[in-house]
Amino acid sequence: MTGPARSYLVRVLAASAVAAVVLTGCGSASIADCPRAIRADLSGVVPDDGSLPFRFPLDDIETHPREAAFCEPSRPFPPDKFHAAEDYHRPAGTPVYAMADGEISFSGPMGGYGWLIIVDHPKMNLYSLYGHLSPSRWRMDPGPVAKGDLIAYLGDGWENGGSHDHPLIPHLHFGVRAGQRSDYPSKGEWRWMAGWIRPCPRDLGWLQPSAVIAEQHIPEGRFANPPAGFLEIWWTDLLIVGAARWPDHLPVVCVYDQTIHGSRHKRLPNALDLPIGLERRGSSLWTICCDGRTMSV
Ligand SMILES: [Zn+2]
Repeated sequence: MTGPARSYLVRVLAASAVAAVVLTGCGSASIADCPRAIRADLSGVVPDDGSLPFRFPLDDIETHPREAAFCEPSRPFPPDKFHAAEDYHRPAGTPVYAMADGEISFSGPMGGYGWLIIVDHPKMNLYSLYGHLSPSRWRMDPGPVAKGDLIAYLGDGWENGGSHDHPLIPHLHFGVRAGQRSDYPSKGEWRWMAGWIRPCPRDLGWLQPSAVIAEQHIPEGRFANPPAGFLEIWWTDLLIVGAARWPDHLPVVCVYDQTIHGSRHKRLPNALDLPIGLERRGSSLWTICCDGRTMSV
């Protein structure tokens, strides 16, 4: 190992050690603190009623026993993540519609989502997220959208975030979150694209989609960031990120499960398949982000 490389590795290890010792925030929620939400009864609002602010993004309200519910704990036991949305199993090619008037702020390929669309709904004080869409079929580009507009189709198992070898069951991952992207101190991508997260989704402003639609409830204003919990540091991730960055930049790292913010982002493969945000801020050596806060060590 060369001198600069050794020096760099020492910095990585030292900074991650300091971070692990110093920081106390951002922990996993327990099942008791984050109960799984039974899907709300949508029969009163489907088919779409033009007088209501929201509509269900699919043409029918069929449910499937294996669909992941809101705040569904991940497996295997014990769970370490919670589902920040509701899944709806439907055949590939099923039309998907905007739940309310708004603006498509993102429409593009996105990792495990296949094709992802995010719609801001400023008048409703929330945004909606539609994952596992089809990259190969027609889909709407960013821009204005009206409630009920067709925005995309569900993807086949090999293109919706799955692959030919490991196809994913065609389904819609439907998330609804209070606030707008501009509400957050840094407009980082992973922060508003979360699917399975360690904190309880409710604590981060995610709402139960079926309940929002069934109740036609418009949240009151922006969502306040919660206080930081316990920050978990993945040593291997830190090292992977650090190694990937060397020697072009100082290793300034954001590590947190899908609550990453900052001006620069990159997803790196690692054992836990966690998105890792990278960020360089002035002369800071390390920046560790935690539920919207930035902590430098
Ligand atoms: Zn999902």
